[in-house]
Amino acid sequence: MDKKRSQKFETLQKERLLEERQKSLTQIEELKKDDPFADPDHASDNAAIDTDVREQVGHDTIEAQIKDTQKRVAQIDVALRKISKNQYGKCESCGEEIPQARLKLIPEAANCLECEKRLRK
Ligand SMILES: [Zn+2]
Repeated sequence: MDKKRSQKFETLQKERLLEERQKSLTQIEELKKDDPFADPDHASDNAAIDTDVREQVGHDTIEAQIKDTQKRVAQIDVALRKISKNQYGKCESCGEEIPQARLKLIPEAANCLECEKRLRK
């Protein structure tokens, strides 16, 4: 494994991370628009119970998706900070270098595959 990652690789990853970050933020905005609770008529309506239930389910699903996306943005931010500190690509658990193939797949990966598997258990 190459100990020193090329500057080019990091620059590329940074571009991708920024792009992904922007995409995620746009996605959050879109999700918020889809939220039935965001409908200004919602609060005042006296819709049937089943409509309310449907809206609740839709709201919960969207809320969960927004949370997931926000988590991803936070991970991307961490990765970007690491790039600026020249610590990008190091596994947070074992300190080993994360293989480039994995970083290409998941640019914001904080752990190597082995640690990721271990942490998920
Ligand atoms: Zn590791």
